[in-house]
Amino acid sequence: MNKIVTLRKTEKLNLKEEIYSSNEIASLKGRTTLISGAASGIGKAIAIRFAKAGSDLILVDINEKGLDEIKEVTLLYGNKVRALSSDLSGKDAVRDLWEKISSDAPDTIVNNAGIYPFKDYLEIDRNFYENTLEVNLNSVFWMCQNFIRKRGSRGGVIVNISSIEALIPFKEDMAHYCVSKAGVMALTRSLARDYGRKGFRVNCVLPGAIRTPGTESLVKKAITKMQLSLIRTGINFNSRLTLGRWGKPDEVAKVVLFVASDMASYVQGTMIPVDGGFLSC
Ligand code: NAD
Repeated sequence: MNKIVTLRKTEKLNLKEEIYSSNEIASLKGRTTLISGAASGIGKAIAIRFAKAGSDLILVDINEKGLDEIKEVTLLYGNKVRALSSDLSGKDAVRDLWEKISSDAPDTIVNNAGIYPFKDYLEIDRNFYENTLEVNLNSVFWMCQNFIRKRGSRGGVIVNISSIEALIPFKEDMAHYCVSKAGVMALTRSLARDYGRKGFRVNCVLPGAIRTPGTESLVKKAITKMQLSLIRTGINFNSRLTLGRWGKPDEVAKVVLFVASDMASYVQGTMIPVDGGFLSC
């Protein structure tokens, strides 16, 4: 009897000790995270989530004005924040960025910057195709290489942002995009295999149907141009969202935070959809 009472007391104590806020559970205090595409949508939400979790930040984007705005917001959480404007398309641009970062290598990188322009497959020329690959895939390839070189034996965490379109090409005129995002998944798995034993965790998050300035401008375009095929695709797309709604950027950011934190210390080389159920049916 006495034993049970003692046990209950201890349990109570442990419970009390374990009541943390979500920011404490997934704390990134003392760490630095580089986030690309941080000026808008999902990247912006990730920047805010990571700032709340105590991470110092290196925010990167091609959009200088947007970068200044998110820098101001994230500084409010009391961490160090650097904003570096860069067009990440091109190996040299990525190398220049890492030279600016200098010896101060971040512990974590989130490769989120991306573009998703629509184009009929038969109309795609070399420039268009290469530009999509440069921004969505090649930049991630070179970012990871620079990161792993800089971190060396210290290891680190990489979270790459792919897309549900890499698995199910639902929308027409997106072959170039699907190729780029499938490449991000393949890269993630390869690096997880090659560098896991050297202290690197590498994972991929697959968003789908998230309301951001990027997706909203596409929806507006389809409606104002009365592009019937796009509107039809939109209706079919929505019918696969078993949660019955589009997601918010912060709903992706929370998952990225989890994957980047020590809560996910045994999560490696995986693809995590954040898509309201799209891939589940
Ligand atoms: P967004 O357009 O709102 O934001 C993208 C950001 O990337 C912008 O700030 C933009 O300036 C930056 N960027 C674009 N080209 C760049 C370049 N060359 N160099 C540096 N920065 C550049 O888009 P979003 O919807 O927030 O998407 C973010 C990521 O999530 C993208 O990789 C996208 O493919 C992926 N994604 C989004 C959805 C969704 O539903 N929103 C779905 C699947 C995948």
